Amino acid sequence: MRKRVIVIGAGPGGLAAAMLLAGHGYQVDVFEKQPYVGGRNASIMEHAYGVFHPVGGVNQLSKAMAKVVQEHGGAIHLNQGVKLYSYHVASTVGLMLLPILAPKTHRELEADAISLGIAMQITNILRDIGEDLERKRVYLPKDLMNEKGYTIEMLYNQEINPAFISIWEDLAIEAKRFYEEGLQSLHKYPISSQLPLKGASHLYRAILEKIRKEEYRVFTEKHYVTSLQKQTILTSIL
Ligand SMILES: Cc1cc2nc3c(=O)[nH]c(=O)nc-3n(C[C@H](O)[C@H](O)[C@H](O)COP(=O)(O)OP(=O)(O)OC[C@H]3O[C@@H](n4cnc5c(N)ncnc54)[C@H](O)[C@@H]3O)c2cc1C
Repeated sequence: MRKRVIVIGAGPGGLAAAMLLAGHGYQVDVFEKQPYVGGRNASIMEHAYGVFHPVGGVNQLSKAMAKVVQEHGGAIHLNQGVKLYSYHVASTVGLMLLPILAPKTHRELEADAISLGIAMQITNILRDIGEDLERKRVYLPKDLMNEKGYTIEMLYNQEINPAFISIWEDLAIEAKRFYEEGLQSLHKYPISSQLPLKGASHLYRAILEKIRKEEYRVFTEKHYVTSLQKQTILTSIL
């Protein structure tokens, strides 16, 4: 199995490192918070002046480096702001717990534990939109809001319209994918850890379903899974 390396940032520095590592046979994943590669090169040459600027081609170098990474089996993950944030605030906790939950297999479970942390944090973000807004915090990705035509004014007006639902659902689908990734290696945990982990994941996932049923009223209500619902969910996974 190829050793995996994660590079944060697809500026010229990150891409050069990624390209060299990929060339040396590592499985490289580059995570970039912006929706484009090139870092400061890209923002100056392409985004400030537009792609038709005569020197816009400077960033071609970054694009070529990204291509080399991909040709060596690596991947460039753009627009990763929410996922990286989720990694820092949630997956890191999972990584610290992992040697306790799975003393013998923790090394091989790291990638899936990271996924589970991201899934849970995206769930938190989707549940706490209203509460975060009161503190003037917005965790919904700006690009996704732009793409769907949902403005910051609409958010502050607490508008639950089709654009808002579409943003919420896109993120919920991402969360679902991360839950599935996170649980795919459940059988590699000791039996004593499997149930708590599966239980916690299912209880958290249920929050998303609850919000859907409550017609996405995240601005005025905080959605919980009731004790009775928790019991039902836990019984169903036994
Ligand atoms: C005004 C100006 C003009 C310049 N002109 C030239 C020039 O003519 N020729 C030249 O060779 N150089 C030029 N440079 C310098 C060049 O842009 C930088 O040297 C180069 O971009 C540095 O590359 P880097 O990868 O180290 O950092 P950056 O380009 O800053 O890339 C860092 C990347 O990491 C991403 N990132 C940061 N934090 C995170 C995180 N937590 N998660 C995910 N992603 C993250 C950022 O979004 C960014 O894409 C210029 C710079 C400036 C500001």
